[in-house]
This record gives sequence, structure tokens and C-alpha cells, in this order.
Amino acid sequence: MPTKRVACLPGDCIGPEIMAVAQRVLAELVPDVELEDHVFGAAAIRSTGDSLPAETLEACRASDAVLKAPIGDPEFDAAEVRPEQGMLRLRAELDVYANLRPASAGPIDLLIVRELVGGLYFGARGVRADGTVFDTCEYHPSQVERIARRAFELARTRRGKLTSVDKANVLDTSRMWRRVVREVAADYPDIELDDMLVDNAAMQLASNPEQFDVIVTENMFGDILSDLAAAMTGGLGLAPSASLGDAGPGIFEPVHGSAPDIAGRGIANPAGMLRSTALMLEHGLGLPEKAATLERAVESALQSTRTPDLGGRATTSEVSDAVVAALV
Ligand code: NAD
Repeated sequence: MPTKRVACLPGDCIGPEIMAVAQRVLAELVPDVELEDHVFGAAAIRSTGDSLPAETLEACRASDAVLKAPIGDPEFDAAEVRPEQGMLRLRAELDVYANLRPASAGPIDLLIVRELVGGLYFGARGVRADGTVFDTCEYHPSQVERIARRAFELARTRRGKLTSVDKANVLDTSRMWRRVVREVAADYPDIELDDMLVDNAAMQLASNPEQFDVIVTENMFGDILSDLAAAMTGGLGLAPSASLGDAGPGIFEPVHGSAPDIAGRGIANPAGMLRSTALMLEHGLGLPEKAATLERAVESALQSTRTPDLGGRATTSEVSDAVVAALV
């Protein structure tokens, strides 16, 4: 079998600290997999002037999977060229339209499938002559169809229940979204489908999250609801994500940002990054047993070794040691 290659983007602030943990674990678990670092985000703006340099994009395209730590630095918050622009471009270039965000704890076991390359974050934007600033939510039915299909397929591998979240009482894009999801549902008679307005979905997630299995939704709704789901299941530091297209490499990254407030202190929680690494082993490299081993090791380490965001006193490297010890 040809050697698998992972393009690693260590990113900014706590990014390199938690990427180092992921790389240590991968070296233990899958020593044959090649890991290559490439600059991205604020670090790339400093060294090349571009948050997604051509070389980094080419390396990502040529890889089997992209493992990404968070990017973003307050230094560039008001700059013309910002780290987040490179992130949106990378997602669009690799056409990773399906963002999977699992959230589980106790009786809660849900999966948010967020559309990632359309909607409000990618529609027309600008400033009118009178100073009005606008962003627009745009979707083509084919974009809704492919994300709906992906969500129905995922529901089939789980408990067979799909909730489609929209704002169809107000938005035309949402009315089209609802119509297309129902058309796709005809091919999945075994899946129980219901529609829910996004405001109600937020309330239901906060008050009765056990009812959900798979949730499929638009880019911005998914961004917000998945942070809420992360908070309901232990906090941002634990939440992983996988962004997948139909072909080519996926992007695997924690849900949280670059946490500039704690960077350099050695206390970042690497669990979200490690869980994203497990998703990469499963969905990106086709190694589900290795993914399960890593998942179990993270669970076991978290029983006794917790960073301050989880109420503990452990350092990043102590969590790293505990996970590596639990791998065997
Ligand atoms: P954030 O997620 O970085 O931080 C929010 C809070 O959670 C902070 O108090 C932080 O210390 C804490 N936190 C986050 N991850 C943690 C971890 N692993 N361990 C311990 N504590 C953790 O969100 P923010 O402060 O709104 O954003 C900071 C920067 O990150 C911004 O530049 C933003 O654009 C960027 N960002 C990047 C991504 C990404 O790369 N995918 C996602 C979200 C935000």
C-alpha cells in the first residue's frame, strides 16, 4: 500500500501546542503515515503575505487528509488580509461541503451536519453608496441536495433520525432548503425526517438534547448550533470536526479557535484536536480501528487528567503523556 500523507497545518496561538500532541500520538499509533507541516493563517501572512500560500494549498490537495489546528491572531483582527480568509478559501478549494460535528456525553449522542461552502458566509457581500453593509445567504438547490443526501446516509449509520433545521417561516433560501430535503427524503423511506425552525432548535438543544440523532443545517446556523452542542457536552476544548467532500482530502480540525488568551502557557486542552485526529483516522485514512483506539485513550486520559478549562490543573503535556500511556 502506498504511504499515506497528512498535510499538517499547525496554525496560530495554541495551534502549534496542540498540533504537537496530535503528531506525537500519530507517530505512536500509525508510524508509517507521513506528516508534513505547512504554514497557514497568521503565521503564513507573516512569512508570505498570504494566509493560504499556493504551496500550502498544493500540499493539501496532494495529501490523503488535512489535519488543521486553529488559526487566528488578534494582531490581524482589523487587517486587510486576515487568517480566516485563508480558512474559507481552503474549504472552498477542497470543496469540503459537509462539516460533521459529533457531540456526545451521557445520554446525549448527536451529530450536526453543517453545510460548509455556501450560505451566508459565501454569498454576495459589499457596501452600498449610502454606507449600508450587506452579506447575503445564497444556495443553489444542488448544494442543498448533496448535503441532505450526506446527512441521510449518515443517519442510516446511526439511529435513523434526521432533523433538518431552517428558518422557513422567514427566508426563501430556507423554504427551498425544506423542499429539497423533502424531495431527497423519498430515497430514504427508512429514515425518520422532521423539520425544525432554528430558534426552536436552539431551545430544544439546550433543554432536551437527547431527542436528536442527526441534524442537518445551513452554514451559519450550523456554526452557532454546533458551539451550543459542544457547550452541552463538556465544552469547546473537547469538540472535534471533520469536513468532507465527495472526493479528495477532508479537513479535520477542532471546533474551537486559537485561544490567544491562553497561548504559550502550556495549558491548552488537546482533546478536541485529538478527537479530530481520530475522525481523520476513520474518515480520512480509512483506519477505523486506530480511530477507536485513540478515542478510547482520550476518554481514559480525561478521567484523571484535566486541563483548567475542564476544571482541572493538568498541563497540555500531562494530557499528552496520559493519552500516549492509554494507547497501549
Ligand atoms: P476560541 O475558541 O479561540 O476561545 C474561546 C474561549 O475558549 C477562550 O477563553 C479560550 O481560552 C477557550 N478555549 C478554546 N479552545 C480551548 C482549548 N483547546 N483549551 C482550553 N481553552 C480553550 O474563540 P475566540 O476567542 O472567539 O477566537 C479566537 C481566534 O480564533 C479568533 O481569531 C477567531 O477568528 C479564531 N477562530 C478560528 C477557528 C478555526 O481555525 N477553525 C474557529 C473559531 C475561531
